[in-house]
Amino acid sequence: MNRIAHWIGGAERAGASGRTGPVFNPATGEQTAEVDLASADEVAQAVAVAKEAAQAWRSASLAKRATVLFKFRELLAANTQELAAIITSEHGKVLSDAAGEVARGLENAEFATGIPHLMKGGFSEQAATGVDVYSIKQPLGVVAGITPFNFPAMVPLWMCTTAIAAGNAFVLKPSEKDPSSALFLAKLWREAGLPDGVFTVVNGDKEAVDAILTNPEIAAVSFVGSTPIAKYIYETGTAHGKRVQALGGAKNHMVVLPDAELDAAADAAVSAAYGSAGERCMAVSVVVAVGDVADPLVDAIAARLPKLKIGAGTDPESQMGPLITAQHREKVAGYIAQGTAEGATVVADGREADVPGDGYFLGVTLLDNVKPGMDVYTDEIFGPVLCVVRTQTYAEALKLINDNEYGNGTAIFTRDGGAARQFQFDVNAGMVGVNVPIPVPVAYYSFGGWKASLFGDTHMYGPDGIHFFTRSKVVTSRWPDPGTSSVDLGFPTNR
Ligand code: NAD
Repeated sequence: MNRIAHWIGGAERAGASGRTGPVFNPATGEQTAEVDLASADEVAQAVAVAKEAAQAWRSASLAKRATVLFKFRELLAANTQELAAIITSEHGKVLSDAAGEVARGLENAEFATGIPHLMKGGFSEQAATGVDVYSIKQPLGVVAGITPFNFPAMVPLWMCTTAIAAGNAFVLKPSEKDPSSALFLAKLWREAGLPDGVFTVVNGDKEAVDAILTNPEIAAVSFVGSTPIAKYIYETGTAHGKRVQALGGAKNHMVVLPDAELDAAADAAVSAAYGSAGERCMAVSVVVAVGDVADPLVDAIAARLPKLKIGAGTDPESQMGPLITAQHREKVAGYIAQGTAEGATVVADGREADVPGDGYFLGVTLLDNVKPGMDVYTDEIFGPVLCVVRTQTYAEALKLINDNEYGNGTAIFTRDGGAARQFQFDVNAGMVGVNVPIPVPVAYYSFGGWKASLFGDTHMYGPDGIHFFTRSKVVTSRWPDPGTSSVDLGFPTNR
């Protein structure tokens, strides 16, 4: 059985806790590896190594750091297919989607190559007579990332590229469900010339997470995962004096107005709802059909579903792979049963689909006439289930979104620029798409939701990422008048 170790001090380190967790190939249901689960002691040892590395790394010149980032970006590009294959083998998503994930993470590395510019401070000459004031940005020291299963490469890259470029040492605790991508990234960092100890991987579960949250040497924690855990991370981390950004779950609504381009809206709904088996925090899980667009829209979505090819992510023909675990598949299937019992109209039932027998496959589900009180509406299902809620007006559609617990992403489909602009103004969500179903910000903006989708006040990567992983220092300086030496060098005396 393949054993997945930690990465400490620039090399693999076998776990010593005696605890391991199973890693499966979701397309076959076979266990492919055992991952070491770190004890609190092992986390403390890893953090001590990272702390020493952080001291030296913060002294590395900006030019040196940029050079490492450029090289890392090149290595990511050159190894995209290999990393994508690792992602698919443990997560299940189709290879093209896995390669897309790497490409998005690579953009974060590209952004971080600009670190010399991003670390610039401000300068005010002559704030008072002979006095200058300036600000500088400095790294925090050792920072940590705790990441979810659904983007095992991209989410770590959201965090570590910026954190490392800013001069921190970064300790990653990846999801124990698909930990191999993290170790692959560690090897690329080493090959890029990153000094040992600046990038660390501690594999583990709650024990490792708690050890991170309470370790006094860790200055900041960046988290992405489900809302209950995000809340726990935020509360525990801040109670231990850390800076925390904790991104949580989502229930993303896509509003379709009667004037929308029907085919474009239907295509968008299908790809955004069922891509990666709906296991995306920016997946569309509710289509809000406004007015008389509902019948033709539901028909157009339904007509596309039989053409979706479900199969192993390694099959180039597959458009949708399996779910992450057997338990998760059962949970999602349970929601389909519940939605049916609660009175939703079942247009397509994923439980009846013809899918591969092995592995954790589930077909796609389309539920129409879903009402806000139903569990399929209120809960984050995180599977290939799309709910359609019908409203008569834009105002009702907006109210649904603004009343929702989550506020990650949302989208509007319309030909009316004024309506889109009003929506952008009105809606309580962190990321808004106009005729774009999954509005993930490019790397030079920042990613984050509102409400229960984010605990903390700083979004992830981009300018907010630099802000999160640095602290500012303001220097006020006064020098004696020049030319006070005995030799007259001709300095003016009019200061
Ligand atoms: P999860 O919350 O179960 O796990 C996330 C991380 O927390 C993992 O590293 C896990 O080991 C750790 N963890 C789990 N339970 C814990 C506990 N009791 N105590 C301490 N640590 C614990 O999330 P997941 O199932 O891996 O990922 C899916 C979730 O992540 C969904 O809710 C999805 O919406 C969310 N997500 C959000 C975003 C975003 O940007 N907002 C992005 C991706 C995923």
